Amino acid sequence: MHWADVIAKELAEKHDQQLISSGISPTGLIHVGSLREAITAEAIRKAIKQKGQDVRMIYLIDSYDPLRRRYEFLPQQFEEEVGRPISDIPCPCGCHDNYAHHFIQPFMDSMVELGVNCEIHWTHELYEKGMFAECIDATFQKREKVMQILNEVTGRDMPADFYPYSPRCGGCGRFSPKIVSYQFPYVEYRCGCGHEGRSDIRKGEGKLSWRLEWPAKWKIFGVTCEPFGKDHAAAGGSYDSGVRLVDEIYGARAPYPVPYEFVQLKGKGQMHKSTGSSVTGVDAIRMTPAAVLNYAFLRVNPERHIDYDSEMGILDMVDEYDRVERLHYQGGSGDNDEDLVRAYALSQPHGLKEKMPLQVPYRHLVNVVQLTQDFGVLLDILKRTEDLGGSTVEDLKILQQRTDCVRYWLNGFAPEMVKFSISEDLPDVDLNSEETEFLRNVHIALSDTEWNGECIHNATFEASKLNGIGAKKGFQTLYRIFIQRRSGPRMGHFLATLDRDFVLKRIKEALEKKQ
Ligand SMILES: [Zn+2]
Ligand SMILES: [Zn+2]
Repeated sequence: MHWADVIAKELAEKHDQQLISSGISPTGLIHVGSLREAITAEAIRKAIKQKGQDVRMIYLIDSYDPLRRRYEFLPQQFEEEVGRPISDIPCPCGCHDNYAHHFIQPFMDSMVELGVNCEIHWTHELYEKGMFAECIDATFQKREKVMQILNEVTGRDMPADFYPYSPRCGGCGRFSPKIVSYQFPYVEYRCGCGHEGRSDIRKGEGKLSWRLEWPAKWKIFGVTCEPFGKDHAAAGGSYDSGVRLVDEIYGARAPYPVPYEFVQLKGKGQMHKSTGSSVTGVDAIRMTPAAVLNYAFLRVNPERHIDYDSEMGILDMVDEYDRVERLHYQGGSGDNDEDLVRAYALSQPHGLKEKMPLQVPYRHLVNVVQLTQDFGVLLDILKRTEDLGGSTVEDLKILQQRTDCVRYWLNGFAPEMVKFSISEDLPDVDLNSEETEFLRNVHIALSDTEWNGECIHNATFEASKLNGIGAKKGFQTLYRIFIQRRSGPRMGHFLATLDRDFVLKRIKEALEKKQ
């Protein structure tokens, strides 16, 4: 049974309705691991729903977290903002409401594409609406108990002046003031900047520390299941303390935990070629087709680590997805493939299609995309080289999305060896007599072969045998006069993407130049 179905089954034994929670702290660039969390949560939601149980999913954006430091991608003036909540810091580009919006917006857009079906909540708004007030009050009433629990779980002594709540200074806007006294709903404080004042716990004038805030969210929403990074699941970590705090301080129950492993970035391709930054979650979404990205995370158990290889690994991932797609629609899966086929079904952002989507081999698409910027022309080329017959509007949408992903990948992360461009004029090549003779034979062979990948391949292959040059050297000759390289995409398919007249003309030019 697929792991999402196992979790759904176990949850059904515990609660009548389910609330899945997931979230993110958008203080900087969004990591690929955040995608794993959202995709994991959505798969569990789907599995529960398909079992016929009542289920909702919330996504909490931790917009009230302070900026911890000025990251290298931030301009100098952000030094000033460190310690302030990101809901209150201006956006770096000037186009968004605030810093949190700036970093989360592209991610939120892609959640729609990935089919993550959730209610969005901004933590700073929850504080402003007073939703945390009851929990904050409880931490003051039972402060000794809170400290005892934290001592016992973490094995570290809490300092005597420890408070689980930080008022926000009315002077400098930071969360660092010292607490002087508490009387519901006011916290009197004194700040290092010299400001003294009082914070109303019902009005977003302060926040709980992470270890107390997390269980407070469980209590507020009635969370029954939550995926989270395995660092929180370590012994003595924040899940362990959360379990006790939510019970002994807030009087609620901890959710079913789904700890997930981190996503490792593999290969030197993890740096974006032009921006120089490493692969972010947003990069991953832009260069991996949505359903494939879902599948890459859902095919393995959350506790197993995943390598995200932004170079050739992406192509392998799509090929694997396409293989399992065929298993789903055409059958023939063995026992080992059952969970993969289920992962495929869970990966569909908008549900399964009735018939199998059109498959254009992804590696072929990578080549065709490099021949034209125009989607219409691309379709014409594909018609010449692949069977586009019977393609639906849906199929073309998938193809368009895949095309966009390929382009993003080629511009940012693809290794040089897959890139090429057709030379507009005959490159300056020096051909020997063996190569010239081969071109003469190829010209004849290509003049009257059927213009599709397989026939062209056979024709060039046979031509290479005539004068004994062999396929390897013969194909090299062709690559040199078309793309100024010694290797390239599969010959038959490659030439089929080009117009026959253009191909013949180019070969002729090479022959004439030689004479
Ligand atoms: Zn912005
Ligand atoms: Zn201050």
